[in-house]
Amino acid sequence: MSERKNARVYHLDRPGELRLVESPIPEPADGELVARVSVALTCGTDVKTYRRGHARLKVPGLLGHEFAGVVEHIGPGVRNFTAGDRIVAMPTAPCGDCVYCLRGAENLCLHLFEDMTLGAYGEYVLIPRHIANRNTYRIPDGTPDLQAAFLEPLACTVHGADLVDIGGDRTVLFIGDGPIALLFAQVARLRGAGRVLLAGRHAERLALARQVGVDHVIGGDAGTAGTVAELTDGLGPDVVVECVGRPDAWEEAVSLVRRGGEVLMFGGCERGSTVALDTERLHYDEITLKGGFHFTPDSVRRAWELMQGGALALEPLVTHRMSLDELPQALELMSRREAVKVAIVP
Ligand SMILES: [Zn+2]
Ligand SMILES: [Zn+2]
Repeated sequence: MSERKNARVYHLDRPGELRLVESPIPEPADGELVARVSVALTCGTDVKTYRRGHARLKVPGLLGHEFAGVVEHIGPGVRNFTAGDRIVAMPTAPCGDCVYCLRGAENLCLHLFEDMTLGAYGEYVLIPRHIANRNTYRIPDGTPDLQAAFLEPLACTVHGADLVDIGGDRTVLFIGDGPIALLFAQVARLRGAGRVLLAGRHAERLALARQVGVDHVIGGDAGTAGTVAELTDGLGPDVVVECVGRPDAWEEAVSLVRRGGEVLMFGGCERGSTVALDTERLHYDEITLKGGFHFTPDSVRRAWELMQGGALALEPLVTHRMSLDELPQALELMSRREAVKVAIVP
């Protein structure tokens, strides 16, 4: 066995307790890749996991899943990558065989969270065989690592945009001003939404929403309902996309949509959360409620295309750059909504 150098990686021992540990660089087994992280991005999922655990991710465990890197070691049998390739790997890949995969709903795969690419808050990541095979991509020349690292959240929003009718003259309201809302609003625009509204509570993020092309930004705690009504002739938006992940925001989304409209619940709430639904709205107003989660290989492919098209403002969403040592502070900034995304450069 060759001698391995040590590398640093964060372990989340339990919510709130991050530890930067030094351990040998992982050795890739058959079909696996080991990549050196060039840049990792903070994500709402990491913040939730750090603060309270997560419905799908294991704690204790590694953290960080949005990254770009360079292949450093390849396991036996790897033919599609070589050392030196710039790559981006998704945190998951579907099994391809379960009942959901066979129906094309790979985002619901029974085995999705069994073996993940995690640990992007570190110097090296191990990419499991099924992800190296099916959900790892070479970064095209001309695409900076920082942009490529957006592939995962972008794929989520591309999948979300498939779930609701946002084309034509439709008015779409986003509730929330975090990175997912700011990405999704841009995807909605590119998918031909007639008008994009966004309601949030943080002045800097709302300014960013304007900068990335949102038509009407609605700020402050008071008056969302009134302003939305004013902007939609008293009818409400055709589609409301909830991007906060709190029960009160889910309920607000239902209250704002127009008759016959669609509501997409895109922000995952804390485990065990419940919401109260106005039955009158659902029944007499024929509102459709949908959940949206994760992405499929097809949404990843289309997210790549969208990114290569160059019409997305991705870098402006990176409000801070920090070192690996500063990760706890980065997650705190995210928790306080002072950062949209932080680029962590090991
Ligand atoms: Zn993410
Ligand atoms: Zn499956």
